[in-house]
Amino acid sequence: MSASLALDALTKTFDGADHAAVDAVSFSVAPGECLAILGPSGSGKSTVLRSIAGLDVPSSGRILVDGADVAGLAPERRGMAMVFQRPLLFPHLSVLDNVAFAATVAGQPRREARADATQFLELVQLAGFGSRPVTALSGGQEQRVALARALAARPRVLLLDEPFSALDPELRSDMHALLAAIRAQVAPTVVMVTHDRDEAAIVADRVALLKRGRLLQHDAVERLYTRPVSLDVSRLMGGRIELAGVVRDGAHVSAIGRVAAPEGETWAEGSGVLVVRQEAIQVAAAGASAPEGFVAVDVVVADRRARGPRAELALAISGAGSVVEAATDQATDALADASPAAELVAEVPASRPLAIGERATALIPRSACTVVAG
Ligand code: ADP
Ligand code: MG
Repeated sequence: MSASLALDALTKTFDGADHAAVDAVSFSVAPGECLAILGPSGSGKSTVLRSIAGLDVPSSGRILVDGADVAGLAPERRGMAMVFQRPLLFPHLSVLDNVAFAATVAGQPRREARADATQFLELVQLAGFGSRPVTALSGGQEQRVALARALAARPRVLLLDEPFSALDPELRSDMHALLAAIRAQVAPTVVMVTHDRDEAAIVADRVALLKRGRLLQHDAVERLYTRPVSLDVSRLMGGRIELAGVVRDGAHVSAIGRVAAPEGETWAEGSGVLVVRQEAIQVAAAGASAPEGFVAVDVVVADRRARGPRAELALAISGAGSVVEAATDQATDALADASPAAELVAEVPASRPLAIGERATALIPRSACTVVAG
């Protein structure tokens, strides 16, 4: 049932716009895979989705479903269904008839269409709601009906444009679980737009990260966090640690000293920014030595912020001066540029008694480090 989807240099420039809303975006989605299109507001996510659906006409580039170009096909001929942030249900029809609507209009006998719709209401866990008016539903229930209606069209590709972003957090996680259950049962190829990286991490196998219409990285969620290809990606994924420096003889030299590239990876020689997730940093007692695979850095707690069950610590790097002396001239220049900001950030359990002004040792796992262009 499910299809592969590929975008080949998809570009869309709206009339009168001075830059492309979507700029040569290419990616592919395997049959049954769930891809999240992630990016800030205005980055072109909806335009990509609407182009796939046939609701926007691309300026150039191709959209392939199972290898076939869909350019000439009207939206209803593409084997796709779309769910929007607002459910767009027909208020004068019952829940069941909303789900059965497309099949009825297409000429299927009403009784059959309703029997079919009943199954999809069960799939979205709304069995027994069929005869209710849609005006009696909560927001979460409305979105379930919209999903059932989309699935009843048996799409080979299911397109979701921020479908859960208007729901409150608990309902959203119910919907994430529902989407997982739907994928386990009917396995459509799914492309879901979201601006929420946590949501992307929960629902998607892979993520296409957009900024200003450009695809920055298309990768597994985990790799967007741990192996960002650029500073932009690191920042959009919420990365907080950036250490300017230089790569020399396979190791990065910065305010925290020398960090050798992880096994099997090579970093481009020359200036570069070392990035590492704040969640990966461990904080030990002052004077602690580095276990195998870690780099130990003497720090002073410069700031502490509550983050619910976690606390975020800003850690000023105390030994930076001596490293600067030992480093090459090129590294010294890079460090001079970065020096006021040379600090680490770590997330620790809120119960951890580390006060501002306290000395500590930050332990950085080498395997979590990567270097990107500055
Ligand atoms: P996102 O979904 O990531 O928030 P959109 O795809 O909606 O972004 O928009 C991308 C860019 O294209 C924005 O600059 C937006 O203003 C512009 N845009 C979107 N739709 C239209 C349209 N119908 N006409 C003109 N410009 C548009
Ligand atoms: Mg949008």
